Amino acid sequence: MQAIDLRSDTVTKPSEAMRKVMAGAEVGDDVYRDDPTVNRLEAFAAELLGFEATIFTTSGTQANLIGILSHCGRGDEYIVGQGAHTYRYEGGGAAVLGSVQPQPIEFEADSTLSLAKVEEKIKPDDIHFARTRLLCLENTQNGKALPLPYLAEAAAFAKGKNLSLHLDGARLMNAVVKQGVGVREITRHFDSVSLCLSKGLGAPVGSLLAGNRAFIEEARKWRKMTGGGMRQAGLLAAAGLYALENNIDRLAQDHRHAESLTEGLAQFAALTVDKNPAQTNMVFFTADAATTRDLADFLGRRQILISPGKTTRLVTHLDINDEDVTAILLAFAEFFSGRRS
Ligand SMILES: *Cc1c(COP(=O)(O)O)cnc(C)c1O
Repeated sequence: MQAIDLRSDTVTKPSEAMRKVMAGAEVGDDVYRDDPTVNRLEAFAAELLGFEATIFTTSGTQANLIGILSHCGRGDEYIVGQGAHTYRYEGGGAAVLGSVQPQPIEFEADSTLSLAKVEEKIKPDDIHFARTRLLCLENTQNGKALPLPYLAEAAAFAKGKNLSLHLDGARLMNAVVKQGVGVREITRHFDSVSLCLSKGLGAPVGSLLAGNRAFIEEARKWRKMTGGGMRQAGLLAAAGLYALENNIDRLAQDHRHAESLTEGLAQFAALTVDKNPAQTNMVFFTADAATTRDLADFLGRRQILISPGKTTRLVTHLDINDEDVTAILLAFAEFFSGRRS
């Protein structure tokens, strides 16, 4: 029996069709820029995202890291969400490897960063301070798509303050599908954008960083330095291309599944379920600690995997189908009806 894995959309496995294009991919040494499939992916993604160039990276963490290192130098600062991946979940890479200081601030309830609060944190031009160079946003953030008007405001703000603007768009395509807009309606506001191929898009490995040509050349140097100069990477790039060509529109199914789960779980009095209209492929609920633990054990015995926490997050993705959603809701119902064997 195949487990129903709700821990993350990183758990997706390449489909047969994806494996087939991977196996047949033309390859070369990408450090020499000789890999035709990597080159095709980078050109395709540049067109899709509306930038001069993109670079294929080993992970989203690497894409964000080399992005920050390409925007900022030693003694510079970037402003970022307290719970943002580029601050909290990337090992402090920009500080460790780039001597770039993060200035975190709390996200607002809608996952934006208040531009008034950002403004307060921008350091004056004075010998005491780091130079504030960059503002990082995240879209989606905790599964929520950022409001489009906010993106325009943030871009105008950054321009006015002489800050570069980076988007951690690990799940950018979830926002695109949710809002029913062209990709560029979101990306055009940013100087650089990262995108994960290995989450809901279903590729096994890899991310992209997009920017202008000079920026991406700088990022290429940092990618090599951080161990990301891959050789016959076309095998992986083929999966990325397949993902971008086939797996964007279907994210709508994941969003529908998350909605069904949100509505279904809201029926159980012991759970407090977050209902946010900007949500895409995640469900968040809280319950008391003992209930959450018992629930996770109970579901685990039925091959339904969750990561229990103070807030528990369920993530839908392309390996969760309609029947799985029914099975998940049934298992919750059994648990709360008291049949906790
Ligand atoms: C997953 C994720 C990343 C990158 O993660 P990797 O595991 O390094 O690919 C970056 N930002 C956000 C918001 C993410 O969810």
